[in-house]
Amino acid sequence: MKRFLLLVVTVAIMSGCYRTDPRNPYNLPIANTMEKYLAQVAEDPDTELVDMEEIIPGIALHIAYATENNFTGVPIYTSPKAFLCRPVAHALSAVQDSLQKLGLGLKILDAYRPYAGTLYFYEIYPHSTFVANPKTGSIHNRGTAVDLTLIRLDTGEELEMPTHFDSFSDTASHTFMDLPEQVLENRALLRGIMEFYGFHPYEPEWWHYNFTNARSYPLRDVSFEDLMKD
Ligand SMILES: [Zn+2]
Repeated sequence: MKRFLLLVVTVAIMSGCYRTDPRNPYNLPIANTMEKYLAQVAEDPDTELVDMEEIIPGIALHIAYATENNFTGVPIYTSPKAFLCRPVAHALSAVQDSLQKLGLGLKILDAYRPYAGTLYFYEIYPHSTFVANPKTGSIHNRGTAVDLTLIRLDTGEELEMPTHFDSFSDTASHTFMDLPEQVLENRALLRGIMEFYGFHPYEPEWWHYNFTNARSYPLRDVSFEDLMKD
């Protein structure tokens, strides 16, 4: 009887292992095929991931995860693209229009991130203040979070901010005040305009903003290449 029980338990554990998809180890409701993604878009067009370079022609991009110059030391994305869900993209376009009146513009540092990227990041840096826990996924996986900074439109030069992008430090927090007046003003300007258009700051990272109801959008694991073909 004991031996039989052992066999039952072993089979149960093994079949459990086989059921786990390494691309989705926590069994989250992730759209990881174009078929699933397109079905979601057909049902709710607001969940479409749109190319920011089409929504804001000439938008400045510096997608660090498409280069070696990021905290992992290797390129995570195969191309330097920024996709966001449609309402998020339009809100950002309104931000850009307002900034233009001041001679300023946005530079996008990261936008939609396929779930595979989140899995990989957490393996490298398992601290959930700065890197989303794959158990829940990142808001970047939903296409409703964006990392960005401000630039001068005439020179393309970045306005001075408290830290560089992805500085995993206390200085990156909105609560960190021991900074030059101009830096505090730049951070506050970005925050003020983003909040006006429906974005919410993430306290530990001055560069990260979530759109209103960000978590109501679906998690995705479709590649930039597939989105570009679409
Ligand atoms: Zn972010």
